Amino acid sequence: MCIFCDIINKKIPCYKIYEDDNCLAFLDISNDANGHTLVIPKKHYENILDVEQETLNHVINCVKKIAKHYVDNCGAKGVNILNANGKDAEQTVFHLHFHILPRFENDGFSAFPKLDKNKQTLEELQNKLKLN
Ligand code: AMP
Ligand code: ZN
Repeated sequence: MCIFCDIINKKIPCYKIYEDDNCLAFLDISNDANGHTLVIPKKHYENILDVEQETLNHVINCVKKIAKHYVDNCGAKGVNILNANGKDAEQTVFHLHFHILPRFENDGFSAFPKLDKNKQTLEELQNKLKLN
C-alpha cells in the first residue's frame, strides 16, 4: 500500500496543481511553507536510488515547470527543491517525490539546517568518496 499511488489512482483526494501523462504535482498536506508542493511520478518508484532515468527526467522537467510557474506567475522570489531518499535520510513516504518550497522575502524559515563541522578533512573525504 502506497499513499501516493492511492492519490494517483484517485482513491484519496489531493489539491492538484499540475498533471500530465507521467507526473502529478499536489500540495503537501502539511500546509506549512506557503505553496509547499510535491511532485511525483505516476509510476511507483521508492526514491532516486531505484527510479529509471527516463522517469526521473520527466519528474525533474515537471519540477522545473512548476518552480518556474511559482516564480514567474505566483509571486515567489525563489524556490527550494528538497528530496529525501531512505529512512535515515528522513524519507517518510516511500514513493519518489520532490518537495518544492516557494520562497518569499522574509518568509522566516531556513530550508538548510546549520550543521557542526565534520571531523574529517575535505582531503580525507575526497579520498574516501571520489568516483573517478
Ligand atoms: P518525506 O518526509 O520527504 O518523505 O515527505 C513526505 C511528505 O508527504 C510530507 O511532507 C507529508 O506532509 C506529505 N504527505 C503525506 N501524506 C500526504 C497526503 N495524503 N497528501 C499530501 N501530502 C502528504
Ligand atoms: Zn506509490
